[in-house]
Amino acid sequence: MLVRLARFVEPWEAQVVAARLNADDIPATVAYANHSVMAWPLALALGGTAIEVPASHLAQAREVLARYQSGELEAELDELVGVEPEQCPRCGSADFRRTMSWHRRLIAVMVNFLFVAFPAKRDRLICNNCGKCWKE
Ligand SMILES: [Zn+2]
Repeated sequence: MLVRLARFVEPWEAQVVAARLNADDIPATVAYANHSVMAWPLALALGGTAIEVPASHLAQAREVLARYQSGELEAELDELVGVEPEQCPRCGSADFRRTMSWHRRLIAVMVNFLFVAFPAKRDRLICNNCGKCWKE
């Protein structure tokens, strides 16, 4: 029996997490990704894209998901490929949050009035330590 592990607003994020679960021999599947392709607002109303795993793999899958959500897996990948981890250009802190610039928000709202919605990328970073804002 399949059980729901998590839901994602962005279907490609669900695909990436499912691929990582598959790499760890967890038979995860992505559900409802086609809703996002056909009607993004409808997909959001239905809860986004889901990852489902067999109930027997749920505990193991939750551990992998927790490592993904904490950024641990991204840090491992950065180290593996030699990418420097993102850090605040002012204080060097790795504790930051992503946000969207005001003009991207405005475009997203205006496009939404055309009954078309799209996922707007959060390309601005804000340091939780010193408040510095910068773009990726
Ligand atoms: Zn900082």
